[in-house]
Amino acid sequence: FSEVNQAEAYVGGDWDKVRGLLGGKGANLADMSRIGVPVPPGFTVTTEACNEYSANGKFPDGMWDQMLAGLSEVEKEAGKKFGDSKNPLLVSCRSGAKFSMPGMMDTVLNIGLNDETAKGMVELTGNERFVYDSYRRLIQMFGSVVLEIPDEAFENPMDSFKESKGYKLDTEMTASDLKELTKIFKDVVKSEKGFDFPQDPLEQMRLATQAVFRSWNGKRAVDYRRAERIPDNLGTAVNIVTMVFGNMGDDSGTGVAFTRNPVDGTNKMFGEYLLNAQGEDVVAGIRNTNKIESLEKVMPDVYKQFMDITHKLEKHYRDMQDVEFTIEHGKLWMLQTRSGKRTARSAVAIAVQMVNEGLINKETALQRVTTKQVDALLHPQFDPNKIKKIEAFASGVNASPGAAVGRIYFDADKVVEMKEKENQDCIMVRPFTKPDDVHGMLSAKGILTSEGGATSHAAVVARQFGVPCVVGASAIKIDLDKRVLTCGDLTLHEGDWISVDGNTGKAYVGKIDVVVPDLEEMKDLTTLLSWADEISDIEVWANADYPRDARRARSFGAKGIGLCRTEHMFFEVERLPIVQKMILAKNSEDRTAALNELLPHQRSDFDGLFEAMTGYPVIIRLIDPPLHEFLPNAEDLKEQIITKRIEKISDYVNGKAIDKELVNLEKMLKEVELRHESNPMMGLRGVRLSIVMPEIVEMQVRAIFEAACDVKLRGFEPRPEIMIPLTGHVNELKRIQPRLIEIAKQVMAEKKVEVEYLFGTMIEIPRAAVTAGEIAEVAEFFSFGTNDLTQMTFGYSRDDAERSFLVKYVEEGILPENPFQVIDRNGVGKLMQIAIQDGRASRPDLKVGICGEHGGDPKSIEWCHIIGNDYVSCSPFRVPVARLAAAQAKL
Ligand code: ADP
Ligand code: MG
Ligand code: MG
Repeated sequence: FSEVNQAEAYVGGDWDKVRGLLGGKGANLADMSRIGVPVPPGFTVTTEACNEYSANGKFPDGMWDQMLAGLSEVEKEAGKKFGDSKNPLLVSCRSGAKFSMPGMMDTVLNIGLNDETAKGMVELTGNERFVYDSYRRLIQMFGSVVLEIPDEAFENPMDSFKESKGYKLDTEMTASDLKELTKIFKDVVKSEKGFDFPQDPLEQMRLATQAVFRSWNGKRAVDYRRAERIPDNLGTAVNIVTMVFGNMGDDSGTGVAFTRNPVDGTNKMFGEYLLNAQGEDVVAGIRNTNKIESLEKVMPDVYKQFMDITHKLEKHYRDMQDVEFTIEHGKLWMLQTRSGKRTARSAVAIAVQMVNEGLINKETALQRVTTKQVDALLHPQFDPNKIKKIEAFASGVNASPGAAVGRIYFDADKVVEMKEKENQDCIMVRPFTKPDDVHGMLSAKGILTSEGGATSHAAVVARQFGVPCVVGASAIKIDLDKRVLTCGDLTLHEGDWISVDGNTGKAYVGKIDVVVPDLEEMKDLTTLLSWADEISDIEVWANADYPRDARRARSFGAKGIGLCRTEHMFFEVERLPIVQKMILAKNSEDRTAALNELLPHQRSDFDGLFEAMTGYPVIIRLIDPPLHEFLPNAEDLKEQIITKRIEKISDYVNGKAIDKELVNLEKMLKEVELRHESNPMMGLRGVRLSIVMPEIVEMQVRAIFEAACDVKLRGFEPRPEIMIPLTGHVNELKRIQPRLIEIAKQVMAEKKVEVEYLFGTMIEIPRAAVTAGEIAEVAEFFSFGTNDLTQMTFGYSRDDAERSFLVKYVEEGILPENPFQVIDRNGVGKLMQIAIQDGRASRPDLKVGICGEHGGDPKSIEWCHIIGNDYVSCSPFRVPVARLAAAQAKL
């Protein structure tokens, strides 16, 4: 291993390339011996050799000679000779690729033992049992790995041998038993292969090396690489390492350890060992292992040395290490070290600890934790051990993370009722959701839909409110009349328990235990995220409609509200009739009267929001959806009318006055039909609606400024920013914006107080992006509505595409990713880039943000950083993830 400097020079000094050449295990073994850690002598055959072997089916020229030369170096260092009958050297032949692939490739121990060397070793050690135990293990491992003999061919004769002796455990076998077993195993090789177990140690080494090379393309390894996205062309290195023996008595042993706790991150050695044991015994769990701490009593010197070495390794690699070690006759040997795998909780804790200890800087700490890990920390989770054993009844899109357990109900009102009257945990199950389902969604522990994709209404709302949610579980059928859910043979009724896993998109029958993340570790998370804020160029804001969401967003570190949707406020029970009156009004007067009724409600909505976000900007979007969403559904109305008519049929017969309710229903139906649009999402909505019916937005702006002035007068610092949705042409803004600014000024004059404010627009129609230079002459800020911008740029319906073809598109690689989840940089992203460039050219201080679903997606955040957004806005629960992503975008 001493040639590590040469290897480094060969690849140009880059440690990542050294790992590529020597594999992680080989590189670290060499590195450890360079810094003076006791590593048994050995050498590494490179991954380049493996790749040549894979290509040509033979060792590259000169490789074998180099191995022999390496071996003789090792012999010198070890003071033993390979194949010598008096003082034989034994070696292991170990695989080791650039990225650790635990247990996926092969390793053969005890190479060099044969009938002769075994005798020599017995003489040398006086320990016949140990020698023949090692020999029979060699034949077994070699037989299986190199000669590809099925395991049963060894296991069956071993079992019958033990049975004939009346043994249960391997350890009951005596020296002569093991000697006999060695003979039995040699016979197995002969009968399986037709030739003898190779007695020539060099032949053993040569065949084992070939076998390790071949294991790179073994099925296990290939499957693992697919799953972990490790490239196939890296190859494995082969490490020939002098054997050290932990099974030479009670002054010997073997173990594995993590230098810090991989579960919770506590800075304390976490490991296990066994005395008088070899290799995999600890991991295999055949015997009860001892906690590493207890080694201090058994071998105080070894323990101290072990602690010193692992400390040194942590300092050297500046990361938590996962080590393998062996003690032979009281001497400690390190056999492997690598960065240890850890849970999300442990990753955050260790990253923060190491900065405080001066081992790493803040930037490195921020790269050691993934956004997925942060996300995982914030939501309750199902116990992973329990989940493994249960089968899901349905699966769909994992729309909003977290674990939810509750009873199923099929409509929003029922969910609210069961929650409020009986304090039940409810799961709302619907084919899909609409804005008027929101109260139910807020009361539910979880949401399951059979239709819709990652940006469907259910998904967006669920993420915003942190409700675990699975959408588009298309195998389930929901019968809203019979109030049952069926899925194959399974039938569930209202009130039955299910568990919904928003992390994986799966749903289970019954209750599964959840583990709530510990608040303790949140302190580390807070620290880490404060470092993220120091580093990143873009701020993270939140989408929030209610004061309580704003407060949560603020506590999660949001520096503003990037989107407050005002229409939710129109759906509340006591307001909806007024809203309908307003919509159906025959003239501006009647409309204004209804709006005047709504105004105090809106004002109080904004009041709380401004107070919660004092000092930070709050972007309020003026009414956006098509009005029909606030009116009853035509089909429902028709049904009601028919029912009513049947009920009242006798009235007709008897010539009585026509029922008034029926008249009203019929009127409503007429109105609804009058307003029908065949493509409402492209119809009368957004700024268009404001131009046709300016009274609504005038009322909204009045309510916003009255609230802002009141809040300011109470001593807070409100910063309203008014956002006009769906602009496609600058003339739309030119028409509406001055009227609204007029109202703002009027209100401030009435209230005799000034507040800071801005008027801006959403960029969500491609034409707006392309003409951003003109639009920025009027708009003071832009916010990318990337849900609609994606829908209109691709021409994909965001409500249907995932259900019909988008999943297939992604699966088959037609699209690299779902553009509703990750911004399509070349198309939608390009439009954003143009909009920022042209917008800032005409208004240099133009503020730019994003409020679409992409605002919480790390890859999309990175794009926003690249094109120069000032902030991203996402749902409150996503804020911590976005803060980390914003910093990582820069690193
Ligand atoms: P893996 O990558 O699957 O962990 P390893 O190459 O690390 O495979 O080896 C498997 C086991 O054999 C480990 O427990 C290791 O400690 C042990 N081992 C490997 N080489 C030696 C050696 N030269 N002396 C003693 N034990 C060894
Ligand atoms: Mg190992
Ligand atoms: Mg929109």
